[in-house]
Amino acid sequence: MESKCLKPGLYSERASGGAPGELAFHGGRCRCGYSFFPMQSYGCERCGRHADDLTAGLLSTRGTLLAQAVVHLHANSNRIAPFTVVKVALDDGPVVRALLAENEFEGKPGQRMLAKLCPVERSGAGETTFDLRFVAVDSI
Ligand SMILES: [Zn+2]
Repeated sequence: MESKCLKPGLYSERASGGAPGELAFHGGRCRCGYSFFPMQSYGCERCGRHADDLTAGLLSTRGTLLAQAVVHLHANSNRIAPFTVVKVALDDGPVVRALLAENEFEGKPGQRMLAKLCPVERSGAGETTFDLRFVAVDSI
C-alpha cells in the first residue's frame, strides 16, 4: 500500500518546529513583513518588491474561522456533496479557502482551526491519497 499527498507543492508536514506531523503551507514572505500563499515571485501585494526580496517559507496552518459555506450540489457530478468550504485567516497572515474534514460542523466565526491530512477517495492500485482539510480545535 502506498500513500501520497494530492498537492505536495502546496503543503507538507513540518520536519521541524511546531508539533510533530503538523502541516505547513508552502508560502512566502516579503522583506516588508507581508506573508502570502502560495509562493510566487511576481511581486509583493503590499509593497511591490520582487525577486530576492521574496523568499519561500513555511506558514502555519493554524488559524481562525472567518466564514463557512455548505455545498449541497456541485456542478461537477464527480464531487460528492454535501461538503463544507471554510475561509480561514491563518495566524501567519494569509486567508485561505479549503474543505472541512467533517460534514457536521457547528463552528462559528472566531473558531480556532488547524489543517490535517485526510484520506480522499481515489480509485487505483491500492494507493491511498491524502489531501489537506481543516478541523475545528478547542485551543491552539
Ligand atoms: Zn512587501
